[in-house]
Amino acid sequence: TMVLSSFAWRGLALAVLVKVCLSVSNRCLPGDDCFPTNLEVIKFMETLDGTLHFPHMASYDTLVVQRETIYTKFPFAIMEAKNINDVQKSVLFARKWNMLVSVKTSGHDFIGRSTAHGSLMIYLGSMNDTKVNLSSTRNPAGEITCESGNTWLKVYNEVDKINRVIIGGSAHTVSMAGYTLGGGHSPMSRMFGMAVDNLLELELVTADGRIVVANDQMTHITYPNGSVTTSDDTDIFWASKGGGGGTFGIATKFTYKLHYPAPQVVQFVCGYPIIRPGANGNWGSIVLAMNHYGNYVSASRRYMDDLFFFHKEWQSFCYYVNRTTFLDYEVTAKDPEFYSGYIMNTLLQKESFTDDLTRFLLKELETEHTNISSFAFTGTLLGGEMMNVGAHDTSVHPGFRTALMSLSATIGWDTSTLDYSGLPERGAVVGEQLSTFGDGQYPNEAGKDVVHWQQEFWGSNYKRLLAIKHQWDPDNFFTCRECVGSESHHTHASGHLNTHPFVPAVG
Ligand SMILES: Cc1cc2nc3c(=O)[nH]c(=O)nc-3n(C[C@H](O)[C@H](O)[C@H](O)COP(=O)(O)OP(=O)(O)OC[C@H]3O[C@@H](n4cnc5c(N)ncnc54)[C@H](O)[C@@H]3O)c2cc1C
Repeated sequence: TMVLSSFAWRGLALAVLVKVCLSVSNRCLPGDDCFPTNLEVIKFMETLDGTLHFPHMASYDTLVVQRETIYTKFPFAIMEAKNINDVQKSVLFARKWNMLVSVKTSGHDFIGRSTAHGSLMIYLGSMNDTKVNLSSTRNPAGEITCESGNTWLKVYNEVDKINRVIIGGSAHTVSMAGYTLGGGHSPMSRMFGMAVDNLLELELVTADGRIVVANDQMTHITYPNGSVTTSDDTDIFWASKGGGGGTFGIATKFTYKLHYPAPQVVQFVCGYPIIRPGANGNWGSIVLAMNHYGNYVSASRRYMDDLFFFHKEWQSFCYYVNRTTFLDYEVTAKDPEFYSGYIMNTLLQKESFTDDLTRFLLKELETEHTNISSFAFTGTLLGGEMMNVGAHDTSVHPGFRTALMSLSATIGWDTSTLDYSGLPERGAVVGEQLSTFGDGQYPNEAGKDVVHWQQEFWGSNYKRLLAIKHQWDPDNFFTCRECVGSESHHTHASGHLNTHPFVPAVG
């Protein structure tokens, strides 16, 4: 109910913001003369298999909320796609009327890239078919093709039934789309690499409505007029392997490698309380959570034992659990449905682990940012198999290939807190300091104020990504904050992106 009550307030804000947007954007927004008439919208709606949700409908209220609630915005309409044809028709319709498009699958994006005021939102959360092929010629353990709207837990359940595992995220409600297109790390990445290293093929709708099937051998294009071409150009596949969501096209299907599972999964968790002088009770805790993918009694158990016995007198708890399978472990993972906060990230290499880093982490953990906020660091272990992929083989930041940890930090506050002023600014400062310790940042878990985001998110891969963006979407039809090509836009105070001045207004 708190989310709903904050809504009424945001509705008011919307009215003000849209007015501002109209005067500066050169996309056609509701209220502009060039915007399609109701009749045109109804005619478009009748061509769809999916559903158009408008602001007066209860279904719109449900779909519009971003998981990161502070970024909830109000699209003109939400097109809930049933199939790829719906996606293609929506792109062509929005293109014809020079509308702003937003692309959402789960709405988890930490900086609100999946929504925009006044946009036609293309929502893929209801497309969730899957197809397994165990006689794949591309991968001995088989492959699975998933429509974008699948969540990881659903897919983990399906592949567990056939005794396989797949590289996916740890959260249950995150979708494959934004996760994979941004790189994707998993609790099993040290064993099997990143999601993009496991991607065999994808299907997407491009900015001019082409349907593309791409893999590391070819790109097959079906044009809106039905003509087809196949080439050995692999640019769009490479760009999709880390270049970020909402940028190169709307992905409708992903095909991934499957893997044979480890014989056993042992989970190991220890907690150490942080005691702060003068604080009432415990200030917080440091939690070590690791998975061992192997038998319980094995050489690697020794390393877990080192941690198990590390300062036993300081521990508040420490245990091993036999989770048996990856699915058995995954079902214990919990993620909040909605949250509010400011996130920041850095990719740490071996040489990043210095005393300075330790001092910085301690200082931030001991700081009381405000009495309405919490502060947390989350380090995900990387390395292993991820390091066996070349810096330019995929488009993720080359720093991923040398990193041992993706370290994220969050200043969080309760979703019902309306006055969180000062906290994002504080986050931006801490984020800037954090970024100096590593090489690169993970765009899916980084802050909204990264100054040199091109370099920080993609490093030496940015140049090629930008060239591919210019080739496949020269008008920046798909655009979002801190996304490849978005430097050619002006962002005004409301956070609404305007296209660069070369796009002609259709009206
Ligand atoms: C609780 C939680 C746990 C997480 N755990 C992990 C983890 O273990 N590993 C990890 O790597 N990351 C993790 N993440 C980060 C996650 O990868 C990002 O939040 C990611 O952006 C989510 O993608 P989405 O499609 O679910 O979200 P959305 O908000 O729907 O989309 C994210 C971005 O992708 C674009 N997009 C969405 N759908 C499509 C599509 N079909 N085609 C093209 N672009 C699209 C959007 O426009 C937006 O730019 C986690 C996030 C949360 C909130």
